[in-house]
Amino acid sequence: MEALIVLLPGDGIGPDVTTAAKQVLEAVADKYGHRFTFREELIGGAAIDACGDPLPPATIAACEACDAVMLGAVGGPKWSDPNAEVRPEQGLLKLRSTLGVYANIRPVRIYDELAAASPLKPELLNGVDLIVVRELTGGIYFGEKTRNESSASDLCLYNSYEIERIVRVAAKLAAGRRGKLCSVDKANVLETSRLWRDVTDRLIAAEFSNIELETLLVDAAAMHLLSRPSDFDVIVTENMFGDILTDEASMLAGSMGMLPSASLGDSARGLYEPIHGSAPDIAGQGIANPCGAIASAALLLRHSLGLHDEAAAVETAISVAITNGARTADIAADDEAVESTTEMTDVIIRCLN
Ligand code: NAD
Repeated sequence: MEALIVLLPGDGIGPDVTTAAKQVLEAVADKYGHRFTFREELIGGAAIDACGDPLPPATIAACEACDAVMLGAVGGPKWSDPNAEVRPEQGLLKLRSTLGVYANIRPVRIYDELAAASPLKPELLNGVDLIVVRELTGGIYFGEKTRNESSASDLCLYNSYEIERIVRVAAKLAAGRRGKLCSVDKANVLETSRLWRDVTDRLIAAEFSNIELETLLVDAAAMHLLSRPSDFDVIVTENMFGDILTDEASMLAGSMGMLPSASLGDSARGLYEPIHGSAPDIAGQGIANPCGAIASAALLLRHSLGLHDEAAAVETAISVAITNGARTADIAADDEAVESTTEMTDVIIRCLN
């Protein structure tokens, strides 16, 4: 098949891991006889430096005209003045809403060999295989903001249709897995959460009677994710709770660098990115873990291009590389040899072939 993929490397370690994902996609194209064309555009701090805009019109146009978008990460100390009018994260938020990708899907998979890299006891990690589905284009991150010298406000707004469509995505995923859905809210204090709970209960009863629905308050969910992570199958939640819980869930896997994400809307075009940020503390050292970005490329193959065998082959290649002992610094035990970003990528490509 032919596909046009836009690459948005962004800032910090973003370019390193995006290059790794691109190399793996090229290896997939060679092996399976596909033709992928790549086009690179600016986003985030790199775009602010180049033209003062974290999401330039050329980037928007390219993303609207392609089959899938592969993003690295945005942000860093250079652009982190909280009073700055233009910030890298604005580019990412605008890109998500421009593409209408309201469902952020974050699978958390544990590799047995990396149990030691997680701060949790290995016995708690047994059998952990969950997906967090985070609402991505609504809630407090997108609501009206006010600020004066002594006060500030951020509006959290949700409409029923925004809740319905994200819960439907999550319930469909659960139906294809263990049939368990956990909806996370803060219905004891937030009106938006009470709407979230009503809509979820109604939708599941009407459309997914075969799904087992559990409801948790976000504070309890934060605790249960650590005390009984293997009980969860699919978790669905609103934007800010999902942002926080997915970082917490990443610790189950041992490193932010391991985990992928897919952001999807109603069309096949999706936005794919590792869950980590630009990691300024290790930027420029060539030591970033590319696994999260490469696993995101696998999600791209599956969800935007419909290439299921190829996606599974990439995931297997990561798994085999880990089983064979390949480790970047973030997941290596003290006595293990450490691969650079490019070496780890090469190992995964060799496993693919
Ligand atoms: P971060 O994810 O960049 O880093 C957190 C820690 O994890 C750091 O110690 C880092 O070295 C490590 N880490 C992250 N990715 C890694 C990888 N691939 N390999 C090895 N180690 C890795 O989060 P942060 O430090 O809170 O944020 C840094 C910057 O990134 C900030 O400007 C923030 O706004 C931005 N950010 C961007 C995104 C995004 O682009 N989607 C997401 C989160 C944070």
